[in-house]
Formats: sequence, structure tokens, C-alpha cells
Amino acid sequence: MQNTMQALVKARAAEGLWLQNEPLPEIGPDDVLIRVNKTGICGTDIHIWNWDDWAQRTVPVPLITGHEFAGEIVELGRNVQDLALGQRCSGEGHLIGKTSRQSRAGKFHLDPETRGIGVNEQGAFAEYLRLPAFNVVPLPDEVDDEIGAILDPLGNAVHTALSFDLVGEDVLVTGAGPIGIMAAAVARHVGARNVVITDVNDDRLALAARVCDCVPVNVAKEDLADTKAQLKLKQGFDVGLEMSGNQAALDQMVEALVMGGRIALLGIPPGKSPVDWSRIVFKAITIKGVYGREIFETWYKMIAMLENGLDVRHVITHRFGVADFAEGFAAMRSGNSGKVVLDWRKG
Ligand code: NAD
Ligand code: ZN
Repeated sequence: MQNTMQALVKARAAEGLWLQNEPLPEIGPDDVLIRVNKTGICGTDIHIWNWDDWAQRTVPVPLITGHEFAGEIVELGRNVQDLALGQRCSGEGHLIGKTSRQSRAGKFHLDPETRGIGVNEQGAFAEYLRLPAFNVVPLPDEVDDEIGAILDPLGNAVHTALSFDLVGEDVLVTGAGPIGIMAAAVARHVGARNVVITDVNDDRLALAARVCDCVPVNVAKEDLADTKAQLKLKQGFDVGLEMSGNQAALDQMVEALVMGGRIALLGIPPGKSPVDWSRIVFKAITIKGVYGREIFETWYKMIAMLENGLDVRHVITHRFGVADFAEGFAAMRSGNSGKVVLDWRKG
């Protein structure tokens, strides 16, 4: 095997990423080496590209970025027994500790010691990735590499959407970014009655309507109360999935929910934001914060749904060979794209 590889590196404390040669990762006894085939560009990678305050505080330089990937196993650590060479896989990018109370209770996604590949540790935007075997998620034939490369954000969508029972419920999704759109598709797949998705960007709402059977509403131009009336909702929505990180969207959601409504919050507001808690109390609303994916229950559920008719392929709007990564990042930074996938086997 070659001993260097191409990787997209945060090589300097400045805006941008650089495609450069890096040494091949060395694996430990409990790791595998994965040949990366396809990767997805995430909003997190855009923060790292832009080198904003969060990235400057969080990301060491130099670092190979990226955490959304699909590939195949090409080397096994000597303790790894239940995986095989050639196994197609994706994997959980959160590297968890084993000593916290939460981990020891099996709630791996709540481990406070978590470190992220491509954020705190060497990442997946590379020809090869070292990953603990524990984090590997094998892919069935039905899930090809480009879908495998977006399982991380699909997992955010699935984790959020499955936070509450959606069967027969009227669901409001705020924010038609890639994750909001996939959450709408999941809500539809698991049997919601009505799925309404809001945004202020018509391109994204049009994309949502191409991906799944949902009602897109541009809240900059339309009144959500009219949508409720058209759908004959007597009181409002039963469940809200907040996927925009926008304070106005959360306010609107609280307003649009029924008494006793439930909200799952995935969107990350930019800082402290004012909330009218009295309305939340008087409406007896339950709010759940959602981080990452449940390790590994979310992975299990999403792969089962993908094998059983959940189709999110149209959320991928751009595909580039890795040599054209700058175009991929430009598409993501425009704010109008769906998911952007880079192919590491195509120059
Ligand atoms: P994105 O930024 O691509 O999408 C957000 C969308 O919200 C945009 O299309 C934007 O136009 C829209 N929006 C803005 N104002 C709005 C309003 N008033 N009403 C409705 N929509 C509005 O983000 P994404 O990649 O799809 O991620 C969704 C959110 O989830 C982001 O806030 C992201 O930071 C967060 N996130 C959280 C986790 C987690 O683990 N909690 C993981 C990944 C992403
Ligand atoms: Zn991601």
C-alpha cells in the first residue's frame, strides 16, 4: 500500500481547507483502517472552512477535517474479530469514552467525554481513515456509498424525528436545510398525518417538496395560520421538530403547537436567545434537546428504514470529485444546496 494519502486539511489558522499529502494513519489493536469512497460536506465543515469563532476555539491546527463518510475496511487491528476486510461501512464519528456513568449505562451518545473525528481528532476527508472498530457501522447492499456518506446527518434527522411518537400526528418541521428535509421524509415514512416544513428560502422549500410528501411554507411570505386552516387542524401541530437554529422559528413553533405539544430541538441558535417561557408553561409543552445520534440505535433504525422504502437520495444536489472540493464547499456555502457529496476515488 502507498504510505501517503490525499486529505483535506485545516493546515493553517485561516479561512479555507487545503488538499495535501498526509501520512497514512497507523491503526491500533482495536481499530480498523477504512478506505474512504465518498464523503458528505456538513454545516460543521463550513464553520471550519470559514474559521469562525467556534472553529477557532475548537479545532486544532493542523487537522484532517470531515466526519460524514462511507468506505470499506482494508486493515484490521489484531483484536478486531467481528469485522472483515472488504466490508463496506460508514461509522459513528463521535469517539466515546467508556468510564462515564452514561457510557457504563449504555447511553453512549450522552458520554460527556466524546471527541469528534474531523473536529477534535483526525477526520474522514482523506483517502484513508483510522476508526475504532466499535464505531464501524456495516452497510447492507441496499445502502450505496453516497447514501452511506450522508448517514451522519440522516441520523440527526432520525434521532430528532423519532424523539416522539409521530404516528397519525400533525408535524411541523422548521428549517428546510438538508437535515430538516430528511426529518420531514422520516416523519412521513413513520406515519405522520400532515408534515409541514417551513423556511424563508424558496429553493430549499422546493427541494423539500421533491424529496418527500410534505407541505412547504415560506414563512417570510405566507402565514402559518393559513396553512393550519387549509389542513383543517383544529388546534395546531402535535409535534415540532426545530431544525433551523433560528429564534423566530422556535417562537412560531410554540405558537403553532397544540396544548401539550412536544418539541424536539436539533437546531443550534447562534448564542443566547430570549424565550417566552410562560407560553411554554401555559401550553404544557415538552421540549427535548437532541444531540448527535443514539449510538447505535439510531443507526439501526435508519438503516432498517432505508431498506424498507425511506428514500432521501434527492436531498443530494451536488456531486464532485475530490479535486473539485472548492466547488463543493462553494455550493454548500451558498446556502441553497442540499447535501454535497465528494468522491475520493475520482480525481
Ligand atoms: P442549514 O443551516 O442548512 O438549514 C437551516 C435552514 O433554516 C436554512 O435553510 C434557513 O434558511 C432556515 N431558516 C432560517 N430562518 C428560518 C425561519 N425563521 N423559519 C424557518 N426556517 C428558517 O442547517 P442543517 O445542516 O440542515 O442543520 C439544521 C440545524 O441543526 C442547524 O442549526 C445545525 O447547526 C443543527 N445541527 C445540530 C446537530 C445536533 O447534534 N444538535 C447536528 C447537526 C446539525
Ligand atoms: Zn455532519
